[in-house]
Amino acid sequence: MSMPAALPGALIDTFGRVHDSLRISVTDRCNIRCSYCMPETGAPFRPHSEILTYEEIERFVRIAVSLGVTKVRITGGEPLVRKDLPALVAMLRRIDGLSEMALTTNGVLLKQQATALHAAGLRRLNVHLDTLDRERFLHIARRDDLGNVLDGLAAAREAGFDPIKINAVALKGLTEPDIVPLALFGRKHDFEVRFIEFMPLDGQHLWDRSKVLTMDEILAVLEREVGPLEAIPDADPRAPALEYRYQDGGGRVGFIASVSRPFCLNCNRIRLTSDGRIRYCLFAMEETDVRELLRNGSPDSEVAQTIASTVRGKWLGHEIASAGFVAPPRPMYSIGG
Ligand code: SAM
Ligand code: SF4
Repeated sequence: MSMPAALPGALIDTFGRVHDSLRISVTDRCNIRCSYCMPETGAPFRPHSEILTYEEIERFVRIAVSLGVTKVRITGGEPLVRKDLPALVAMLRRIDGLSEMALTTNGVLLKQQATALHAAGLRRLNVHLDTLDRERFLHIARRDDLGNVLDGLAAAREAGFDPIKINAVALKGLTEPDIVPLALFGRKHDFEVRFIEFMPLDGQHLWDRSKVLTMDEILAVLEREVGPLEAIPDADPRAPALEYRYQDGGGRVGFIASVSRPFCLNCNRIRLTSDGRIRYCLFAMEETDVRELLRNGSPDSEVAQTIASTVRGKWLGHEIASAGFVAPPRPMYSIGG
């Protein structure tokens, strides 16, 4: 029997955290192979029949919004390899109560799609770029695509996206030479660069604590070689990034310091994987199947209850920093970063 959908406020977990942010992965496939994310060859991908359709995603988002979700981020894998992503953007755009929509992309296909994505109603972009050096890009991403990403950034700016942020993964022994050039590039072109600490979600389980280039280490380099920074006052405590601004007024820089400063206590997010699993944490060991409900004629109320009960079962947080930490069996590209 159909039950009334739960009301806003349903997505409060047992620790009092309100969940209003949903990350949707639209594919587990990707057109490049970042070494800290995917194996060079042989990454297992889900068959298309297991991937949610745009109609199924739209229905899930509509139900999640009825429960209090107001923000959505589309991610992957690489979301721009999914056919006609602007169509999904346009569908989500029409959902009443969804106030913010953003996309995380590696930017390789952005030049071709920026105008259509903007026309469909998308405004916020995070473009993943670890280095401005072509050889180093090839080494890290195993594809010679730096030029395409830079063209994509230019096309996104031209199309009118705002804000455009740059996501740079920081690994010790790998990306130190890129910190200053990326920061200067961000200042020059008005992109906020966000440095992301390397997390134990790589497909090959290469992570260990010694490979994490921490926020404090990066901050020290920036202060020494680019200019003094100050923490931005009154920043949203529930935003994952810790944000700083240059004291000379030359822009901002952010840090996703998941390892050195976990932000679990303020977490407001849930995730939908491309194959229709709800996850309450990137690092969760368990996930809830919602694809079956979306495909077997179950009413919206049952989907709503499944989302709400997943949130109620949410743990206090991951413990990357502890000796007992166990990485989840699914890698980042398959969960949705
Ligand atoms: N393909 C898109 C991209 O690269 O932006 C979206 C998916 S990707 C999995 C999402 C984000 O995860 C990217 O910004 C990337 O920088 C980050 N990422 C991937 N593997 C990571 C890891 N092991 N640790 C930290 N961040 C990682
Ligand atoms: Fe692809 Fe993004 Fe993973 Fe790089 S980080 S391999 S671009 S999914």
